[in-house]
Amino acid sequence: MSLHPRARIHLDNIVANWRAIGALTPDSETGAVVKANAYGHGAVPVGKALFEAGCRTFFVAYAEEGAELRASVGPEAVILVFNGAAGNDRTIVRETRLTPVINSLPALRDWLSYDDTTSYAVHLDTGMNRLGIRAENVPEMIDMSRTHPPAHIMSHLVDSDVADHPLNTRQLYSFRDLAEPLTTARKSLANTGGCFIGQMYGFDVTRPGIGLYGGGPTPPAGTAIRPGMTLEAPILTVQTVQPGETVGYGAEWTFQTVRTLATVALGYGDGFLRSASNHGVASLGGTPCPIVGRVSMDLTTIDVTAAGGLAKPGAFAQFIGPEILLEDQAKRAGSVGYELVTGLGHRVTRIYE
Ligand SMILES: *Cc1c(COP(=O)(O)O)cnc(C)c1O
Repeated sequence: MSLHPRARIHLDNIVANWRAIGALTPDSETGAVVKANAYGHGAVPVGKALFEAGCRTFFVAYAEEGAELRASVGPEAVILVFNGAAGNDRTIVRETRLTPVINSLPALRDWLSYDDTTSYAVHLDTGMNRLGIRAENVPEMIDMSRTHPPAHIMSHLVDSDVADHPLNTRQLYSFRDLAEPLTTARKSLANTGGCFIGQMYGFDVTRPGIGLYGGGPTPPAGTAIRPGMTLEAPILTVQTVQPGETVGYGAEWTFQTVRTLATVALGYGDGFLRSASNHGVASLGGTPCPIVGRVSMDLTTIDVTAAGGLAKPGAFAQFIGPEILLEDQAKRAGSVGYELVTGLGHRVTRIYE
């Protein structure tokens, strides 16, 4: 028995989520976004599991992430690098056969002067105003790349979490029109939310991320999304407190009645959100146990009064998983599932099952 926080990673669920999301866009290839260590789930095991399930297009943010993935999935997969490849990254990209995503005209000029044989992608900006070649510069981009055109064209949705947001259709049409002259390029627009909105967002290849890991917006009726991980923390101590006593730093929480508390090994030093103080919740054998007081670096205290005899040292309380859904916990902490799972650090033992 080890009294460390642990994340049991459900590779089968991640593969099932990949298939369920893929079923929404049957005419498109389903890719997988495995940046940020597969959203905290482990890029190598997740990449391998998805490759074995048939996934052939992966997306990462950095060249190093791509190189690590290449070593584990082998030569066949296409691996796109969202943040492009400048400086030393160009060598990594070439040596490990990654596909850099080019995000501006200067970056395109740079890439074409460096390498005119390796395939690359171009990101078109359809409204995010973050990365990508702006609409008015697309003719120049096409002109510049005539001798070595991009193999992939992509854009990114601003508000795909809100399925009926008018920006979605505006971006869809804008992307379709801008990408149309690039007949040989594979086209990609949809993240998880985009896959949930409708089949016309699918284009050639989709880019689901958060949905693979059990988060994101509510899926369409009939699509089941399962937890990608179960985050659990062991109880170190159990104690009874009297009315008028407080718990934790700052004495922010005062008890009105006699309560039973459990202190668990999980804190912001593990990447758990400090903003879950006084708002988050754990589950002990299905019984909700609210977080009381501040989340500290290594410890969090939960009110286990309702859990009775289940609350004993060595027992594990669930913080993310089938009983506490990722997005519910994140929302309680004023955050989103993305931040919660990507933040989990090395002190959380990953167990693959
Ligand atoms: C992270 C990312 C995705 C995945 O988005 P999800 O909302 O996690 O599905 C897709 N495309 C781009 C460009 C991204 O940066």
